[in-house]
Amino acid sequence: MHNYPHLFQPLQAGPARLRNRIVMGSMHTRLETVPDGSARAAAFYAERARGGAALIITGGYSPDAAGRLEADAGALDHTDKLAEHRIVTDAVHEAGALICLQVLHAGRYARHDDLVGASDIPSPINRRKPHALTTAEVAQTVERYAECAALARAAGYDGVEIMGSEGYLISQFTALRTNNRSDQYGGSLENRLRFPLDVVRATRARVGPGCLILFRMSALDLVEGGANAEETLQLARALEAAGVDLLDTGIGWHEARVPTIGYMVPRAAWRDATARIKSAVSIPVMATNRINTPELAETLLQEGVADLVSLARPFLADAAFALKAEQGRADEINTCIACNQACLDFLFRDQVASCLVNPRACQETRYPVEKAARAKRVAVVGAGAAGLSCAITAFERGHAVTLYEAQDDIGGQLNLAKEVPGKEFTETLRYFRTRLAGSSVQLKLGHRASAEELASCGYDAVVIACGVAPRLPDIPGIDHPKVLRYDEVLSGAKVPGKRVAIIGAGGIGFDVAEYLSEPAGSGNTAEFLASWGVDAQGRGEGGLAAPRPETPSRSIVMLQRKSTPPGKTLGATTGWAIRMELARRGIPVLTGVSYQRIDDAGLHILREGKPELLAVDHVVLCAGQDPVNALRAELASRGIDATLIGGAERAEEIDALRAMEGGMKVAYSL
Ligand code: NAP
Ligand code: SF4
Repeated sequence: MHNYPHLFQPLQAGPARLRNRIVMGSMHTRLETVPDGSARAAAFYAERARGGAALIITGGYSPDAAGRLEADAGALDHTDKLAEHRIVTDAVHEAGALICLQVLHAGRYARHDDLVGASDIPSPINRRKPHALTTAEVAQTVERYAECAALARAAGYDGVEIMGSEGYLISQFTALRTNNRSDQYGGSLENRLRFPLDVVRATRARVGPGCLILFRMSALDLVEGGANAEETLQLARALEAAGVDLLDTGIGWHEARVPTIGYMVPRAAWRDATARIKSAVSIPVMATNRINTPELAETLLQEGVADLVSLARPFLADAAFALKAEQGRADEINTCIACNQACLDFLFRDQVASCLVNPRACQETRYPVEKAARAKRVAVVGAGAAGLSCAITAFERGHAVTLYEAQDDIGGQLNLAKEVPGKEFTETLRYFRTRLAGSSVQLKLGHRASAEELASCGYDAVVIACGVAPRLPDIPGIDHPKVLRYDEVLSGAKVPGKRVAIIGAGGIGFDVAEYLSEPAGSGNTAEFLASWGVDAQGRGEGGLAAPRPETPSRSIVMLQRKSTPPGKTLGATTGWAIRMELARRGIPVLTGVSYQRIDDAGLHILREGKPELLAVDHVVLCAGQDPVNALRAELASRGIDATLIGGAERAEEIDALRAMEGGMKVAYSL
């Protein structure tokens, strides 16, 4: 059936038997903050349990009010909350998986005013100053962890995961960076490890041997003043001795200036840090971060890096990840592309998480898997992100779908986006190809549907997903041979010279800058670690080393007319890393410019009112897009009211996220 002999071996972890080695890792969803959150969380997790996950770990719940991530975040600190958790645990058990509650005390990362910490040192990513817990308050906090675990058991959870990484309260005790205490919880390493060990011992004493206890420890802190490899291994051994059943691994504090899960991080980049921990203990160890295919997961287990894998975002992208792998249908997996755009970036905007490639994620109750009341004949015009999402969803809803595409292949703008270093849209296209092949959708490639043809076919509904065309700004010399469009560059049709000016510093401008400045060896883990300043052996504070200087292959300058800081439209959780990467490659962004003309000498601009010549070989246009939707008016003149989706509906701020979500929603409305 499948080629994953290690992945589908059962595993005994403490008192729990896992049916396979695939765990759905903890992922904050914010579902607990919405009125029907328990029912939605039950549907969300149960679908993943039916999809084959052996164990599900919930998003973090605080053991007390101070430890909540934000004012309306979840805390499990009273019996009156058990009923809402029961809805979730019952649904998951009925669907065949185990479920653990993650106990997460945010410490100085809490985004409310009653935050506490190991010290009063504030975090660089939180303007609030924490109250330093007194020794007595530390003891109370330890008890609250234990009480939270007992409540979790009463709510039907099979166990708890104690969150001890990513820079939350426990990390704040273990690292000198945040621990300047003079009591028994500060100073020596032994003292700094006391808090997590007290938490584990108190929890075990309270819940007994029948409760599964996981501990998510920081395999690499990636901050100055963080633990080095030897200290990390000492903690791992001590946690095992204190009664932990299974060690999960986290990478990097949230304030680290090294990307840890974004698309620019090579797959399984952190495997060595996990392997070090596995070699130090005899309890099972779980690998995490940027593991998004069953092949890779199997390889990590086969090579002895870990005993099991934790997949969080991949289960947002595809609830049936494990089942499809087990049934030999891995090519049907909707792969997480590590974009963060609808999961982590939504959380930063205080929205419930979802997924770019699977907009049903966390919306399972609103968009159930069921047929529409009446099957219709539907035409979808354009097989880019919006059209593909619409066509496949409409087919799943029982409609008879014809999908027209003027090009000889599906994908539209995804075919350009997949060329950007690290962006994994090739997986998304593979997913859609497999889905289309297994469906009755009639795919008409190389076929530009006319209004006349569509009208003659008598469709019940016509959806226009013709996408966008690059905007050509009104600059004298715009037709000069030096001028290239972003689509010509990303498709490889035109190759710019060594000196390049990029007009437009939006998402695509940054994509093109990344593409044109990509160093040799990009995508390779060793190169990634060296360029971001991570010591492969985890030596030094937080496992950091001096970043390797970059030697750019091209001289690139980006420009925008606005005076505002560039890159504002990039994702909250990836934009900072993209900006840092391009800055390291010596690519400036000139703001507040106006474009005068383009001629044989280069690009003439005005900056702060002064004329400047950028003597470049090529000028690449990344100046936004215009919608392609003339078909709608042509259909209207024949009495057909077509629906616009994606960039054809609105070109401003169009990206794969809005395109796929829009496509799915329209398919549900048919
Ligand atoms: P965009 O983000 O709106 O950027 C367009 C850029 O062109 C801006 O820098 C704008 O700056 C400039 N511009 C607009 N009109 C112009 C004109 N007439 N002449 C000269 N410059 C002009 O659009 P995009 O880069 O095409 O990206 C499309 C969408 O995809 C956006 O929503 C973007 O966020 C998204 N996207 C996101 C990512 C990501 O990493 N998350 C990657 C790619 C795309 P000025 O007006 O100040 O000159
Ligand atoms: Fe993965 Fe992107 Fe979906 Fe997040 S939004 S789960 S990173 S594909």
